[in-house]
Amino acid sequence: MILVTLNIANFEYDIHSLVKAFFPKEDVSVTSETKVLSEAPLFSMAIRYEPDAISFAIDGQELLRIPVNYADRTQTKNRLKQALYRLLCDYTHTTLPWGTLTGIRPTKIPMAFLEEGRDAGWIRDYMKNTYFASDEKIDLSIEIAGRELALLRQADYQNGYSLYIGIPFCPSTCLYCSFTSYPLGKWAARMEEYLAALEKEIDFTARALRDWKLNTVYIGGGTPTTLTAEQLDRLLTKVEQSFDFSHLLEYTVEAGRPDSITAEKLQVLRKHHISRISINPQTMKQATLDLIGRRHTVEQTVESFHLARSLGFDNINMDLIVGLPEETIEDVQHTMERLKELSPDSITVHSLAIKRAARLRMFKEEYQDLTITNTWEIIDLTARYARGMGMVPYYLYRQKNMAGNFENVGYAKEGKAGLYNILIMEEKQSILALGAGATTKFVFDGGRRIERTDNVKDIENYLGRIDEMIERKREAIAKYM
Ligand code: SF4
Repeated sequence: MILVTLNIANFEYDIHSLVKAFFPKEDVSVTSETKVLSEAPLFSMAIRYEPDAISFAIDGQELLRIPVNYADRTQTKNRLKQALYRLLCDYTHTTLPWGTLTGIRPTKIPMAFLEEGRDAGWIRDYMKNTYFASDEKIDLSIEIAGRELALLRQADYQNGYSLYIGIPFCPSTCLYCSFTSYPLGKWAARMEEYLAALEKEIDFTARALRDWKLNTVYIGGGTPTTLTAEQLDRLLTKVEQSFDFSHLLEYTVEAGRPDSITAEKLQVLRKHHISRISINPQTMKQATLDLIGRRHTVEQTVESFHLARSLGFDNINMDLIVGLPEETIEDVQHTMERLKELSPDSITVHSLAIKRAARLRMFKEEYQDLTITNTWEIIDLTARYARGMGMVPYYLYRQKNMAGNFENVGYAKEGKAGLYNILIMEEKQSILALGAGATTKFVFDGGRRIERTDNVKDIENYLGRIDEMIERKREAIAKYM
């Protein structure tokens, strides 16, 4: 473990995120209290906030002191992170692709500057000097921010909103999963009850927002296609009967797991004019799929994709993960080759992120011998393949504990970008979210202020307390919209 002690509790979260980015496998404790340790730390760092300066010491030796003006909190934070970053670069003999940036939405920075009218050269210099990010990541974020701005012109920030409906069930639980997802086997018998609760939320939301323009709908999860064809039909019928679609720009269903997709279900999606679906291989290496508990075959992915194409879907996304246990760059190349043969309309390349709730993290000992590799070469390889398939990057986000400290990037062919993905990442429009574990976000002032309202995660609680969930929404809508 790594211990960071502070003389005053201040910027603990920023310090923790940055130290953790350098030492993803270590437990990091940042505290202003005296701590008794059960084991000797890898090293101890002491950060002291003095009247006009911040000092840094490692294992009792002061290494750096920087002058600061505490009146400017943003400036103080930036200077603190810059100094800490330099110290940790020296200590580890390494740098991070995104420099001191540890937030999940780095593209928000160039986007805000582009909206102010700054040019790319100015933004590049600012990001380099302030965050020490690599040239590659700075260029990528500026390219994406520019593309997002152009795509977002379609959406109405003032009077528009988006809708998310969560189906938090999956055929099995993936090793790395930290989403709200419950095994279908346990809940299949109660799916009708779940749909009935969703319908109550749909009725309320459609009535409450009748004067607003619905721009995008995203049905995600979990795996929405764990619903039977009849249940999908029931849900999609309810949605289209309840909401006014005259301003709808995009309607996505994340089919997700190939083992849940059937011709009948795809036909239901076609009947309801779903404009975009996602069929997610994650990898085209069978041994990895078996290892991560996805319980579907590579062939099922290929068959589902061909089936969807034959039924007329012309906007199919495929999600991939790099940094999966035991995968090498050759495995990733093999996956990209197979995808090239299929030629989807967009792909989203995720870097594996292992959150606390994932089995891979919870049972650390059991999985400690697994090798997780994510490198610049792997990230570059996926980017080259995506561009080679005629796609360009259009959205980007980061998560905590990502393999290699990289990012997730969505690539799409012309006209096939997922608008909802941009809206949720750039936080430019309110998203009303229905279902267990769904979080509604109210966006004000072009994204400068965000308020959230959560639905409970536990299904039993969601079903039993659906009226309370609706009441929460009612109060939030009255207050914020
Ligand atoms: S498909 Fe996605 S939501 Fe479902 S278990 Fe796997 S990672 Fe979790």
